[in-house]
Amino acid sequence: MYQFINGKRVTGTAGTMPLIDPSTEETIDEIDLAGPAEVDAAVDAAANAFQEWSRATPAERSDAMTAWAALLRDRAEELALDETRQAGKPIRLSREFDVPGSIDNVAFFAGAARQLTGLATGEYSPDHTSSIRREAIGVVGSIAPWNYPLQMAAWKILPAIAAGNTIVLKPSELTPLTSLLFAETATAAGIPDGVINILTGTGLEAGTPLISHPSVSMVSFTGSTAVGTQIASLAAGMAKRTHLELGGKAPFVVFDDADLEAAIHGAVAASLINTGQDCTAATRAYIQRPLFDRFVSGVAELMRQVRLGPTSDPATDQGPLVSARQRDHVAGMVDRAVASGATAQCGGRLVDGPGFYYEPTLITGAPQDSEIVQREVFGPVLAALPFDSDNEGITLANDTPYGLAASAWTRDVYRAGRATRDIRAGAVWVNDHIPILSEMPHGGYKHSGYGKDMSHYSFEEYTIVKHVMHDITAVAQKPWHRSVFTLAD
Ligand code: NAD
Repeated sequence: MYQFINGKRVTGTAGTMPLIDPSTEETIDEIDLAGPAEVDAAVDAAANAFQEWSRATPAERSDAMTAWAALLRDRAEELALDETRQAGKPIRLSREFDVPGSIDNVAFFAGAARQLTGLATGEYSPDHTSSIRREAIGVVGSIAPWNYPLQMAAWKILPAIAAGNTIVLKPSELTPLTSLLFAETATAAGIPDGVINILTGTGLEAGTPLISHPSVSMVSFTGSTAVGTQIASLAAGMAKRTHLELGGKAPFVVFDDADLEAAIHGAVAASLINTGQDCTAATRAYIQRPLFDRFVSGVAELMRQVRLGPTSDPATDQGPLVSARQRDHVAGMVDRAVASGATAQCGGRLVDGPGFYYEPTLITGAPQDSEIVQREVFGPVLAALPFDSDNEGITLANDTPYGLAASAWTRDVYRAGRATRDIRAGAVWVNDHIPILSEMPHGGYKHSGYGKDMSHYSFEEYTIVKHVMHDITAVAQKPWHRSVFTLAD
């Protein structure tokens, strides 16, 4: 395994680590790790490429990205296989969700590249005419997590380069394969060398030097709140623009008039997607009391039917956690909840290896202020709690430090309207939970961060606004000069 710098494969100089298939625990490859020398080389390459790429016309950038999307469609199966091997994703999910979603993102941003419009132009002063330029910021330094390696690479790279920036991306050291393939495909499609550079390395040896590199003008991070806040402090000390997508603890609120069958199916899919390693996954189900018992038995029954298995098997529903560490973290949280009096209605157990598997788990009886309800589990675990009044349901939904995503389940349009207004989260679904669109923004409130991925909102965040003001009086002594000095008669 290698670094991808200035359109070429380069060897990292900070040692190596094995790349493990989480479903078999076999070593897939040996990753060489980037250190400060590769960070410097990648940022230099991006800074050089910025000169031309930022001056390319939007149509030129768009054409290159359109060609890239076409090439990615040809290599979709290769991307799906790599994504599955490195992240432990069932192949069905990689083929039907991660890969097509990422390619659609490329197509969307190829179009968005041609929409770099300013909002205000015109005569706001009698003596001037004004216009707005939206310009690229420079070199973006980006760090991504392991849960959706390909989609995270897409969400970071695409808006940045569509707007004329260049980028150095550091994927998680656990999952570098598809970021490398994604970038190499871009080069093969004609995106110039140095526009996209990938550093495979650890947070401390590659991530921190990347963020603090003086030639990096913007920092874009997706990952945990703990690491994100450290990165934001570092970037703030250098006055760099920062975009943070952090953790989540999404509530799933079921009112007593909801379609219970739909809510049960929705809860199982939304809590188990990607083995629960999804920052928007349903993690806390709040059920209005009349439906609580039926919801719990329905979800537990459906969870017991979920098929765990090899990720290469298209019949597998749920794969392993990404690592032994992540599996042990999930097991620890469930064990502590049960030891404190909660009940695992189903699951709650490790699965014998090989592979870092954990059973789909439904927890009841955990109080609102308990660890399993408040903190990110990032595993196939849903906690269900009852509520009485609508207000109580919304209050409980808002009662964590996070605010990334939420859903409200009701047939009542007024209840849905109040829930979507009152839940403090970057996305609120009604009668569904999880779907995303390239055209629509994804991003948090509160400790889930700030900044939007995908959509035109994201594109704009990777640009800087310049006011250009032209004098139209063509006189030497302009009217406003009189406020500064007057000439003797
Ligand atoms: P993490 O924060 O441990 O690591 C994320 C990235 O940061 C990795 O590339 C890692 O190498 C790097 N890193 C770690 N320490 C660093 C440091 N001190 N300096 C610089 N870089 C450092 O997160 P993770 O475990 O990879 O991913 C899971 C987390 O990501 C969860 O909290 C999840 O909610 C979050 N996430 C959020 C979103 C979103 O859109 N909001 C999407 C996916 C994942």
